[in-house]
Amino acid sequence: MPKVFVKPNDKKRQYSRVQHLSAIETPVWLSFMSKAQEDSIIVDMEAEGLDEKGLVLRLKDVSVDEVVLLATGSHPSAHIQQSEAADRLKKGVEAIFDVPVRVENRLFFDPTAMGAIPYEKLRLPLYRAHNWHSWGRPDRSYGATFSSISCPFKCDFCCVKDFYRSDYRRRDPRLVLEDIKALVSSGVTNIKMMDELFALEHKGTREVCELLRAEGLGEVVNIWAYARIDTVSEDLLKVLRRAGVRWLAYGIESGNEAIRAGAMKGKFTNDHVRSVIQMTKDADISIVGNYMFGFWDDTFETMRETLDLAKNLNCEYSNFYCMSVYPGSRLYDEMKARGVDLPLTSEEFAQMSPNFKPVPTKALSGREVMAFRDAAFSEYFCDPGYLSMMGGRFGSHAVEEIKAMTSIEIR
Ligand code: SF4
Repeated sequence: MPKVFVKPNDKKRQYSRVQHLSAIETPVWLSFMSKAQEDSIIVDMEAEGLDEKGLVLRLKDVSVDEVVLLATGSHPSAHIQQSEAADRLKKGVEAIFDVPVRVENRLFFDPTAMGAIPYEKLRLPLYRAHNWHSWGRPDRSYGATFSSISCPFKCDFCCVKDFYRSDYRRRDPRLVLEDIKALVSSGVTNIKMMDELFALEHKGTREVCELLRAEGLGEVVNIWAYARIDTVSEDLLKVLRRAGVRWLAYGIESGNEAIRAGAMKGKFTNDHVRSVIQMTKDADISIVGNYMFGFWDDTFETMRETLDLAKNLNCEYSNFYCMSVYPGSRLYDEMKARGVDLPLTSEEFAQMSPNFKPVPTKALSGREVMAFRDAAFSEYFCDPGYLSMMGGRFGSHAVEEIKAMTSIEIR
């Protein structure tokens, strides 16, 4: 009898009124799990828009011997946010079906050794790119692939190794090409390179890029990937762009150099940040700048420095987060030792949930940090200089979308 692999749906709780702007990610890990088990079925509750009742209806005529709930999205921190949804669902499913239900919230296999991604197990038209990723594109089709797992770096607030249960490991570049060809032949051109860090000097990254370029796919696809300020060069950026990487997401984190250095996310200066951002723009790659408010040493002045840097860099998209302190990171242990009241439930971890619980700094309450983040979001995205740059780059449609986005009342 088959197994059913389920991705729980916690989108509404996590994103509240902005869920339509977020991506619906292809559950690559689930598809691998399903590949290893003949006759298995995948139910992606998030993509299919199912709640618990919907899942029961979906399964009522299927005979199964086990239900496996994978509490994770494509980003490792999602396992923390989705574990609770999976546990809730486990109880509900067990009460109705007389079958064992297992919850997995970390990778328990090595996906670099499992061949090409079996997209045929997924209903690809159900997946949707982030709003920003598809600006200037004809659709929000979406798919994901990866060329590595885990990360060669060790940042304080990061829990990726905990999720992967593995150190950094690369995949055969030819498999990445195979994945992308499969996506493109299914009409999917907006693609997430799921690697925690794709844009770095590594022969694997260069090989993937060269394969995509040689196949002419660089002209076709719209890939987004993670980069670091200290891992790219002018030459690498050109190579990435020729391979169809049109968006890079950088963790800039803070505008205050001492705070950034304290978080161990690179010892780079603001001048270095400015020059790499300019280099990326010159390579015709759009940028997602990621910033964080609420480092332990943050004050209103240092958070203002961060916002000023973001405005000065004027990236095509900026994410402003409150500091996340996830179990499994060194920062989590430090904050616990300081006696800080940390989030516990998935909603308390979810940045856009009305029940989000921001962590305090040495000088500010969590609420003060969150209020600053929300004001920063409006100030950034309503800035006339930013909107004019976006109009020039992606057209008036993107500008209208941004205006609609900033008009949403979060809480
Ligand atoms: S570079 Fe990114 S993925 Fe790697 S350890 Fe740092 S935060 Fe985590």
